Amino acid sequence: MTTTVRTRVAIVGAGPAGLLLSHLLDRAGIGSVVVDQRSRDDIESTIRAGILEQGTVELLDTLGPVSRARTAGHRHDGIELRFEGEGHRIDFAASVGRAVWLYPQHEVLKDLIAARLDRGQDLRFGVTAERIDDAGTDRPRVIARDADGQPLEIEADVVVGSDGSRSVARATVTGSSKGGYFREYPFAWFGILCEAPPSSEELIYSNSPDGFALVSQRSDTVQRMYFQCDPDTDTAAYSEAQLWDELQKRVPGTELKQGPIFQRDVLRFRSFVAHELRRGRVALVGDAAHTVPPTGAKGMNLAIADVRLLAAALEALLLEDDERLLDAYPATASRRIWKAQHFSWWMTSLLHVAPDATDFDRRRQIGELRTVVESEHGRAYLAEAYCGWPSDA
Ligand SMILES: Cc1cc2nc3c(=O)[nH]c(=O)nc-3n(C[C@H](O)[C@H](O)[C@H](O)COP(=O)(O)OP(=O)(O)OC[C@H]3O[C@@H](n4cnc5c(N)ncnc54)[C@H](O)[C@@H]3O)c2cc1C
Repeated sequence: MTTTVRTRVAIVGAGPAGLLLSHLLDRAGIGSVVVDQRSRDDIESTIRAGILEQGTVELLDTLGPVSRARTAGHRHDGIELRFEGEGHRIDFAASVGRAVWLYPQHEVLKDLIAARLDRGQDLRFGVTAERIDDAGTDRPRVIARDADGQPLEIEADVVVGSDGSRSVARATVTGSSKGGYFREYPFAWFGILCEAPPSSEELIYSNSPDGFALVSQRSDTVQRMYFQCDPDTDTAAYSEAQLWDELQKRVPGTELKQGPIFQRDVLRFRSFVAHELRRGRVALVGDAAHTVPPTGAKGMNLAIADVRLLAAALEALLLEDDERLLDAYPATASRRIWKAQHFSWWMTSLLHVAPDATDFDRRRQIGELRTVVESEHGRAYLAEAYCGWPSDA
């Protein structure tokens, strides 16, 4: 027996994009149903992004005190670029008067889920969307299976695919699950979480002859660090001592504070933008629409920037019967998406050592790094992009 649910907006995916969208719609008086194939516990415990742009934090402020980004997160007014053994601080406050917050994505998700459930949101875990039907009509439907494997249909005025990089909604919008502009990279990040005090107060992005490393933090007792590796690296291939050696040799000049490593993962890099962001009454946001390599810390922030635009478009459509903002959504969102794609690609190429890099390439890269850190304009470009462009840019 198929259960049918009717709502104004059906949202597939309870990541940052889907949950924030349901919050903004609710503020405008628009009901939604949010489904996610994972359990609440899984969603709230998966380690992913860590850097929130200032505009993201300001949008999360609209949740009220349940958002702990400012209280439990840490404001960062700069980062360090390290090359040729020397650190160069990019001072965000001095360059652009903005900041970022270090606050893990799974904590953002805990806040969002608590806020949504507190408001009585219809939020269903363990529900897997299989496809979306009738996109070209004003009654699109999500065809799904609930947590018990029973068929479920959600009929809505609009369906939003916020279902991440392996989106099923994308096939409805673009005609194929892979329909998009795509670039792969010949390296990946080996990420660790360890129990240790911070090695640095701010993030260190280090370019070294042995490859890139990022020294990041999570809390006073847990740290997150990454080093450049081959995409096919097996996480079990390194002993703890070897992992510390790999990290340390890429961050000359800073003695890393070591401690037990309790999580390791390999994060492959891709740049992707779907050919289409909307078909009829189905729209894509976040990783369903695009993926960036993590070097610029843009993924979650870009998802949230899409949501800001789409929420305004759905408000105009569903409250005023005005479809113009939804018509404009793909073009408007694409402006920021491609700026973020460029910045993420640029930070990646600036800091990593390609496997086939020649001496010329290495020296040119150092020249590029000097162009950035020794110029007020170079520092300002990086600071503006890293902290996030204004919401209308
Ligand atoms: C290791 C790592 C580090 C990162 N660091 C940063 C960073 O520092 N800063 C930054 O901004 N970004 C970062 N990112 C990227 C960031 O995590 C993503 O861009 C962000 O999660 C995108 O949010 P989203 O809501 O679009 O998608 P997701 O967070 O992927 O959420 C999609 C949801 O949809 C659900 N779903 C998928 N398919 C279905 C289906 N068929 N039916 C029902 N539900 C479905 C999934 O279970 C998931 O919960 C990082 C990513 C990784 C992996």
